[in-house]
Amino acid sequence: MSAQLLDGEALAKRIKEGLKKEIEGFKAKGKELKLIAVQVGENAASRVYVNQQKKACEEMNIKYELKELAAVTTEKELLDFIENLNNDSSVTGIILQMPLPKEIDPKNIQVKISPKKDVEGLNPYNMGLLVYGKHVVAPCTAMGAVELLKSSGVELKGKEVVIIGHSEIVGKPILLLMLQSLTESPTPTVCHIATKDTSAHTKKADIVFVAVGKAGLVKAEMLKPGSIVIDIGINRVPVLDADGARIIDEKTGKPKMKTVGDVETEKAKEVCSMISPVPGGVGPLTVTMLIKNTVECAKWQE
Ligand code: NAD
Repeated sequence: MSAQLLDGEALAKRIKEGLKKEIEGFKAKGKELKLIAVQVGENAASRVYVNQQKKACEEMNIKYELKELAAVTTEKELLDFIENLNNDSSVTGIILQMPLPKEIDPKNIQVKISPKKDVEGLNPYNMGLLVYGKHVVAPCTAMGAVELLKSSGVELKGKEVVIIGHSEIVGKPILLLMLQSLTESPTPTVCHIATKDTSAHTKKADIVFVAVGKAGLVKAEMLKPGSIVIDIGINRVPVLDADGARIIDEKTGKPKMKTVGDVETEKAKEVCSMISPVPGGVGPLTVTMLIKNTVECAKWQE
């Protein structure tokens, strides 16, 4: 048995087609959607996300502007900057690029982003609505992972779900998204760094979400036969030859690298029924959910 791959690219394309129509609807009413990304100081990793966001916005006819603030910006200055964006009716959504300089606490900023412009779903008010089961927006990666699971067509009621990783942007919101229905929710368990025996949990799980950032953390023998695995992890690892030695890139003279998730996918494919690949699984859905949140915020602002 080899597991079916859950194709995030194809699902993202389908969702974007629906969103495009909604964005055209706003255009027809004379409303242009606009996202402002705020970056403080320079960061290579953040650049990658900025480029992805920019590309997605261009494709979807959403205006995207990157506001680059100096690395010496204080928390007070950043809060004032956010306040101006909150009050600017031409701005649909605000993205706070991470990391911020260590002197600034991201939570102090996230709480000040207007909930109606909180396209990343990280404001405590929106988190609270998620607890109530009444959310308008939610953290993008968590939503993307759950959308990918739902695309499998699996019935969630009665299922055992294990979520590995309990961050605020992924693990915790997945937990809440799993508990949205009063009568049809599955039974989620969250494992994390202090969990004594993660495999004791995953072996019983019908569905496993993993968002840790450790390549090879989830091994085939930890999975229940026929389970569904959503791999959210992103790790850069060296490419190895048949003897396990690193392959050197002739052009750069450096080891060749590739992107993998947290699951030993090739072996896991022989145990589970469906698995999301990395890359090409949850990744393309994260930015799609950012667009979805933008559309939802625009509706909310109306
Ligand atoms: P994080 O560092 O905030 O959290 C990691 C979590 O893993 C923590 O809850 C920690 O308790 C848990 N953990 C660490 N070691 C563990 C272990 N041995 N066993 C069980 N749990 C363990 O990370 P994050 O921001 O939630 O990101 C997690 C992964 O998801 C990263 O690889 C990140 O790159 C990836 N990610 C992907 C996307 C995407 O778009 N696909 C978006 C965000 C994050």
